[in-house]
Amino acid sequence: MKQVKFRSVLLLLLIVLLGLGLALFCLRYTFRGEAWASFSANGHAYTDGVVRTGQVLDRNGTVLYDGPSGVYHEDSALRQATLHAVGDQLGNISTSALEAFQSRLIGFDPLTGTLSGGHKVYLTIDADLSRTAWEALDGRKGVAAVYNYQTGDILCMVSNPSFDPADPPEISDDDSDYEGVYLNRLLSGLYTPGSVFKVVTTAAALEQLPGVEERTFTCDGSVTIGDQVITCPYAHGEMDLSDAFARSCNGVYAQLAVELGADVLQDYARQAGLLEGFSVSGIPTVSGLFTAGSGGDLGWSGVGQYEDMVNPCAMLALMGSIASDDRAATPRLLYRETGVLGLPAAIPAKEKRAAVFTAETRQTLRDMMAHNVQETYGQSRFGDLAVCAKSGTAEVSDGAPHAWFVGFVDDNTLPLAFVVVVEHGGSGSDVAGSVAAQLLEQAQS
Ligand SMILES: [Zn+2]
Repeated sequence: MKQVKFRSVLLLLLIVLLGLGLALFCLRYTFRGEAWASFSANGHAYTDGVVRTGQVLDRNGTVLYDGPSGVYHEDSALRQATLHAVGDQLGNISTSALEAFQSRLIGFDPLTGTLSGGHKVYLTIDADLSRTAWEALDGRKGVAAVYNYQTGDILCMVSNPSFDPADPPEISDDDSDYEGVYLNRLLSGLYTPGSVFKVVTTAAALEQLPGVEERTFTCDGSVTIGDQVITCPYAHGEMDLSDAFARSCNGVYAQLAVELGADVLQDYARQAGLLEGFSVSGIPTVSGLFTAGSGGDLGWSGVGQYEDMVNPCAMLALMGSIASDDRAATPRLLYRETGVLGLPAAIPAKEKRAAVFTAETRQTLRDMMAHNVQETYGQSRFGDLAVCAKSGTAEVSDGAPHAWFVGFVDDNTLPLAFVVVVEHGGSGSDVAGSVAAQLLEQAQS
């Protein structure tokens, strides 16, 4: 009798242990299953470290990459235009969908595991607009991006240099043609901003220097601050703040920077969102730099030179914020995800950014940036679109200036902001402005 009782207790103990073990496994499976499934040794999901399940598509359902077959879109230009958004098969582009959205592509389901097949991951980008941007950059290094500041959707983000992921070239480390080729310059690039930074200096002046809009400034072509001479391409003559902005007068802006002081300028660079990176659907962007210095250095930093460094995506988001009556949407790349039978899977909710500056300052900046187009860049280049913009021709130490053109369409029916940088492109308005004009023309059709 004693022996039977002992065996019963032992059996009961074993059953309890089994139950506990099962419960622990289920718990771990529920919380960790997705990570187990996306572990790179999972033969169901990967071949040689390449995701072989799921599909990456554009917002309209154009398949850009098919996991099971490992095949990209048939059009070579489109493959190069979307390389940095989609990713290469060797996993070199860490900010791409194939890397950042791996577990979504694998599409783990707690009931069926990965047996039901991968998920379709739709990006916010538009394939046609991406190809237009790639063709407009015409092989020049740089970035061209457009986003909808009401929804946050990034409609294109083309980064050059690029390559064809279906036929990747041999790239050696010292090949200057492929310098930084694995970086998505929109998310991870940093550039001297040049005159596009004057948007920030203008915001600071509007809010911190009472009556600045009523002042008259005079430019003789150069101004001496401390031991440095700040030069303009020619004498801009007499003007108010709005015309100093439209003519991009370095002399006026250097003097405004000195009057505002280093701390105020630094604070406005921070308020503008140019100093901190942020998340684009979970993919981090890089932080910018602003060191105001003093004297002539402070003057140059207010003009967007000296040690200023800006990330193009931060500039894009700033443009969206200036364009918005209230809070603008944060740029995002993940549009939607569908699983088995086309059922939607959960994706993060759209996010809003804190509004930049005051509502009055944003309105004045919109007016001034519209004035830039009327006075300097030429409305005819943009048809009937209510384009507000600022150009930049950023002096750099290693060659011709970088050409910048940033802005937005001030129209609720076409709420688009854009950023274009052509490295060593020369004139911001001419070179980068023409890329932006081609993008906006395509975007409204
Ligand atoms: Zn000037």
